[in-house]
Formats: sequence, structure tokens, C-alpha cells
Amino acid sequence: MSNWQADILMYHSISEAAGPTSIAPAVFAAQMQELADSGLPVVTPDALTAPAAPRMVIISFDDGFADFADTAWPILRDFGFLPIVYLPSSHVGASDSWRGGHIPPRPLMTWKDIETLAAEGVLFGAHSLTHADLATLSAPDLEEEVAGSGREIAARLDRPVRHFAPPYGSSSPTVRACIARHYDTSVGTRLAVAGPGDDLHDLPRLEMYYFNDITRWRTHLEGRGSLYLAARKTMRELRAMMRRHA
Ligand SMILES: [Zn+2]
Repeated sequence: MSNWQADILMYHSISEAAGPTSIAPAVFAAQMQELADSGLPVVTPDALTAPAAPRMVIISFDDGFADFADTAWPILRDFGFLPIVYLPSSHVGASDSWRGGHIPPRPLMTWKDIETLAAEGVLFGAHSLTHADLATLSAPDLEEEVAGSGREIAARLDRPVRHFAPPYGSSSPTVRACIARHYDTSVGTRLAVAGPGDDLHDLPRLEMYYFNDITRWRTHLEGRGSLYLAARKTMRELRAMMRRHA
């Protein structure tokens, strides 16, 4: 299909905590209800290598917070939606103790949680080993952070890991070339709907904090929202927040 669009939703933590990387469980459930009501197909990044629908939705989570297993997944499962979760593999079973993580740090899922979820259909991608800023690394360190994380997750789950998300959305032509050697797709934090003009290794996403207002979300799903023009100022602020917190 030559003309397609993919709304790649970006979530971090689903909890009552403050800040742009947390969405309240009730808001998340309402966003998923609107998505279900829209009838749009929910797919994984696997679908992007051969898009088969004019408009698709992908639900993505960065970091693998414990509240994904406790709170987000039961809601998603009820709707029959299969998401992708990007894991910083060295931190699995610990907390988001990296630069820009929450204070105090929040717990991440364990490998046991992740193995259970994978068996239930959740897809896992890589988010580097240590949640490093990839654009700042030497070539050998970059290679290890990019390839090593997918390798570890693949070994744990006994299945290939085809998708990546660079921490902080931080990349460069060198970073993207390295990711492209090891993965089919990569998603960033640039705020837009993805389409055929996009590099599959530099895909934009929709920061769902912007859609805490359910009316705004419904308007977007109905195709009536002028996302880019109406939201430019908000998105600039969100980008600045993402740089500090994601
Ligand atoms: Zn992250």
C-alpha cells in the first residue's frame, strides 16, 4: 500500500504520579475506549514493513515500568490490543535510575513479568542496554548499546527482536545507521503521524500526554484535529519536557 498513515502512540508510565511521562489509569482506559470505538486497526511495528491498511494505530511503551504489567496490560488485554514495549535491558528488574528518570525512581518489570507477557502476546523491542544517550557514544559503545540490548531480550524470550527506540529520542545519522543494521524499525519522540515519507528508522510518535483531554483525542481519531498547526505550541513544550524526562 503506497499511501498509509500510522499513529504510533507513545506511553511511559500508567499511574497517578505527576509529570508528562505518567498518564492516569482512568485516562488511559478512556483513550483505549475511544480507540476501540474508532474501529481503527491496532497493529505492531511488524506491520510497517508492508503496510496493509490506510490508517493503523500502534501502541508503544518506553522503559517497561512495573505499572505496564499491573495496570496498562489488563486494560489493553480487555480490548484485545497488542502493544510493543521497549526495554532498556540492563535495567530490567530494577528501576528507572538513569539520568532524567523519576525521583524517587520507579520500579521496572522483571524478566519473569516480561516472559509472561510475551507468552500472552505482548511484543518487546529494545531501548538500549543502559538507557544511554546514543548520540554521545563511541562507535564500539554504540554498537554494544544498540545490538546488545536486542540480543539479550531475544535470548531471554527465545524470539527475534526487530524493533528499537533510542532513549530520549536522541539519534544522529550514525546512530540511525547502526540501528538500521540490527532492526527493522526505530521510533523517536518527534511528534507527528507516521507515513510513507518517513524513514522506518526515524519514525515519529504521538506523545499521549497531549491527549489527556479525551475530546481532543476523539477529534484526532476522527481525523478532524489539525494536529500540527493547532498543537504547535503545546508540542514545543512537550518536546522540551521529553528532553528532560524521557
Ligand atoms: Zn526511555
